[in-house]
Amino acid sequence: MARVAVVSGGTRGIGAAISKALKAAGYKVAANYAGNDEAAGAFKAETGIPVYKWDVSNYEACASGLGRIAQELGAVEILVNNAGITRDTMLHKMKPEQWHEVINTNLNSLFNMTRPVIEGMRERGFGRVVNISSINGQRGQLGQTNYAASKAGDLGFTKALARESANKGITVNAICPGYIATEMVKAIPEDFMKQKILPVIPLGRIGEPEEVARCVVFLAADDAGFITGSTISINGGQIMY
Ligand code: NDP
Repeated sequence: MARVAVVSGGTRGIGAAISKALKAAGYKVAANYAGNDEAAGAFKAETGIPVYKWDVSNYEACASGLGRIAQELGAVEILVNNAGITRDTMLHKMKPEQWHEVINTNLNSLFNMTRPVIEGMRERGFGRVVNISSINGQRGQLGQTNYAASKAGDLGFTKALARESANKGITVNAICPGYIATEMVKAIPEDFMKQKILPVIPLGRIGEPEEVARCVVFLAADDAGFITGSTISINGGQIMY
């Protein structure tokens, strides 16, 4: 029987590539999203992957959404915590809501999404949790105290849960993408990209969402069971840790 995989923020950008790659690898995939019904509808029509709308920063919404997926598709065995947002501004100009929105969506969501499925994974003796962090959680970035704190928090969560879950057949890993060609990154002016960004990437290009997705499929596999608590950088060599 195909294992069930849930991808938060799985209808656009990197998440959409992850959903598609998991489906192609034979998983039964459910893609969560927040509010962009048009993008979710187009994604569903293109891929045939069912979409589920709820806000990952809300615990009750996560518990009920994940419960619905378990009823409709089966027990959740692969969880990809991918949904994330930015609200960039320097700390001395940051409003409390810009701080809280980012922490709630990028960090508290890991509790909200993982807590409802972890007991089942433990009981069944199998699970895969993959958290999408960021290069800016590893190194910091100006204008992103909120985002960098949330993404660094994701790494701590990953390592602690990996230790807690190791004797239950559950692996927990994090991926830190660098510049990946999503809508936001593609909107960066060409001159700025050529003069400022590409020179600091040893591979001389930005990454593709599919390159992150490939790593998720690798970590989700049954035979990736000896990899846990890892932080995998996918950044073209921009930073090497
Ligand atoms: P996008 O903005 O392209 O897509 C984000 C997805 O997350 C959408 O499906 C969106 O739903 C969903 N989402 C946002 N907030 C919520 C929420 N509260 N509840 C449920 N779903 C939500 O993001 P990217 O593909 O660029 O980024 C994906 C992940 O990768 C993020 O965690 C990001 O921080 C990380 N990352 C991205 C990098 C990049 O270069 N793009 C680099 C490093 C890390 P909807 O469509 O309804 O809005």
